[in-house]
Amino acid sequence: MQSINIIEKNIAVIGAGLTGLTTSFYLNKNKADFLVIEKQNKTGGVIQTEKQNGYLIETGPNTGIIGQPEVAELFEDLGDKCTIEIPGKEANKRFILKNGKWELLPSGLWKGITTPLFTSRDKIRILGEPFRSRGKNPDESLSQLVLRRMGKSFLDYAVDPFILGVYAGNPARLITRHALPKLYNLEQTYGSFIGGAIKKGFKKKTPQEMKATKKVFSVKGGLSQLTNALYKEAGTENFILGATNLQIQYISGKYISTFKNSEGNEITVKSNKLITTTGAYVLNDFMTFLEKENLVPISCLPYANVVEIVLGFDNWDGMEPEGFGGLIPFIEKRNVLGVLFMSSLFMQRTPNNGTSFTLFMGGIRKPELFEKKESELKAIVEKEFMQLMKPSKFNPSLFNLYWHKNAIPQYGIESEARFKQVEKLEKEYPGLIIGGNLKDGIGMSDRIKQGKSLAIRAL
Ligand SMILES: Cc1cc2nc3c(=O)[nH]c(=O)nc-3n(C[C@H](O)[C@H](O)[C@H](O)COP(=O)(O)OP(=O)(O)OC[C@H]3O[C@@H](n4cnc5c(N)ncnc54)[C@H](O)[C@@H]3O)c2cc1C
Repeated sequence: MQSINIIEKNIAVIGAGLTGLTTSFYLNKNKADFLVIEKQNKTGGVIQTEKQNGYLIETGPNTGIIGQPEVAELFEDLGDKCTIEIPGKEANKRFILKNGKWELLPSGLWKGITTPLFTSRDKIRILGEPFRSRGKNPDESLSQLVLRRMGKSFLDYAVDPFILGVYAGNPARLITRHALPKLYNLEQTYGSFIGGAIKKGFKKKTPQEMKATKKVFSVKGGLSQLTNALYKEAGTENFILGATNLQIQYISGKYISTFKNSEGNEITVKSNKLITTTGAYVLNDFMTFLEKENLVPISCLPYANVVEIVLGFDNWDGMEPEGFGGLIPFIEKRNVLGVLFMSSLFMQRTPNNGTSFTLFMGGIRKPELFEKKESELKAIVEKEFMQLMKPSKFNPSLFNLYWHKNAIPQYGIESEARFKQVEKLEKEYPGLIIGGNLKDGIGMSDRIKQGKSLAIRAL
């Protein structure tokens, strides 16, 4: 027989991905009275690490950037519960495909002038970048901004592949101040990217700011070790996993969350505060207390769908995968967005002498690929991978595909209205805190920063 359980808590947290887990970790650290409601039977959200044939595989994100001090602080706070892994200097080596050939992405001004990636005309334009005037349109797209300050070849062979790598997106659709706020502020504050970067380099940083080293990171044993450690340290008793059919009402100043647990029992959680950490596209499903039109400015946020491909070779004889990996500009007309050289970044993730790669396909500009059959995708991967990495034959011992629907949010022109609506709803409903990747950034470091701030707000 089904039973109905009523649980009273101060705070209910929806979602146990990296954001919800970071929030929960800090709530528990501060002895808060909270409960996390997660739809899946496991925590971590899109972060999942698997082991197969001796290979350690990331099926979602592969690496993060210590772009926010909160990332370093989280690892400090977790102590020996998980160990951050930082690749060697080779991770700074990144390649861009031009005319079918990998070219090194220039790391400094001199290399920027000598690289074959940019035209001579644009190299001269780049030298004049510090003298160009500030943009005046706050809703300028990233491609408009780059064309205005740097030139088309810089857009095509530096910014476009970077945006494919991070957003699987289109720089013409992303609004700079929302998608890359640091870049936007660099121009607005200093009047120039180059001048701003130099001036910022000389600016004295606080001890906290110095923790944001911008280094690439993973975790020993894979990123799931981080989410597992957060789950454990947040107190596993504070989580209900496998919670389906979630519906939330707001009655007499309380949030009433009802759902079925994994045994089919109906559970009701009454809380004073509600923190959501899911993507925008699911809010309509459970924010029952809101009229649908109240959520439209938030839930209309577009997301890119991506297919992630993991390849493992026991005996690799192709191009030496030295560095972080390579990105493929849209103008090169390929289906693969980029190739990560995972086994060159992190040791002990393959069987002896094994070599592994992670590829991405799809994204905002190739949505049709997401709909293709596995066999069709595998054929495309084989053809393009042979051309890109040049092994003598295609004989992977590992060839896995992972489909990620609604993978990466695209902070476009709708963003301003979305942020305003979040603020409006939070004012209207006391104790409501709307988090997740619909605001405050899309990368793991942004999620950790937001997760911590959600906990602080709720406390
Ligand atoms: C394929 C891919 C590659 C990426 N690569 C990188 C990378 O290399 N570097 C980087 O920094 N970032 C990367 N990212 C982004 C990064 O992984 C995410 O920003 C981050 O992991 C998202 O965490 P989250 O908790 O905000 O969301 P999620 O991980 O999506 O977690 C949300 C949680 O909410 C739960 N949920 C949903 N609906 C309900 C409901 N109705 N009831 C209860 N629970 C619900 C979900 O099950 C999920 O567990 C990548 C993302 C993807 C998808």
